[in-house]
Amino acid sequence: MGRRLLIAGNWKMNKGPGEADTLARDLKTELSDCTHVDLAVAPTFLTIPEVAARLKHTGIQLGAQDLHTEVSGAYTSAIAGEMLRAAGCTFVLCGHSERRSVFGDSDDLVNAKVKAALRAGLQPYLCIGETLEERDSGQVQGVIERQLSVGLAGLEADQVASLVLAYEPVWAIGTGRTATPETAQEVHAFIRNWLADTYPGYVAAQTRILYGGSVKPGNAAELLGQPDIDGALVGGASLKAESFKGIAKAV
Ligand code: PEP
Repeated sequence: MGRRLLIAGNWKMNKGPGEADTLARDLKTELSDCTHVDLAVAPTFLTIPEVAARLKHTGIQLGAQDLHTEVSGAYTSAIAGEMLRAAGCTFVLCGHSERRSVFGDSDDLVNAKVKAALRAGLQPYLCIGETLEERDSGQVQGVIERQLSVGLAGLEADQVASLVLAYEPVWAIGTGRTATPETAQEVHAFIRNWLADTYPGYVAAQTRILYGGSVKPGNAAELLGQPDIDGALVGGASLKAESFKGIAKAV
């Protein structure tokens, strides 16, 4: 990767109508001088239109936190990738650990969502990462390998090169417990090597691999300074323009 880093905010189930508009307005102001880095935010489905209106022409990418695999039909409560694209989204998270643990998204379903995102013209951000139990029992590489091979199954090399991978150790998400830069780098290097072994060489070089898990302005510089970390997926610290900017400035 040409080391142009990407900082993406996952607002989760926070910032309802009005609040989302305020945060988007603050981001627009605060981040106007952060042209050295790519920026992205994923608000709730409900507030995508107001955030889209506010972020128009700012260069900050807009995305969603999930999508359904079908284009339309009798899928009460679901949202299709095509709808997200029409609403102004350019990317979508697939397989965030909360989708996996709270809503039961399996690796196969995550793979179907990645394909649905590509079909809709959205850039998938495939989220992967081990639980604490899996780490403590020495399964990190096995889990990552399974999530990658199933999550990316059936994709062309070009499609893999164009998407974003987010390594988010589950034990570091929303816990305040960040992986050390060395621990994160070790897994990122493993992911990069897996890409190199599985696809033509350019894929490992082009696919961006973000780190996620309690990234804050205070720890961002060290994490983002690692050779295989191409940016951050940020939860809690993306809910305030000041802290999101602090992370972008740490690049
Ligand atoms: C996330 O939800 O993707 C995340 C990394 O959250 P936090 O930064 O709050 O740990």
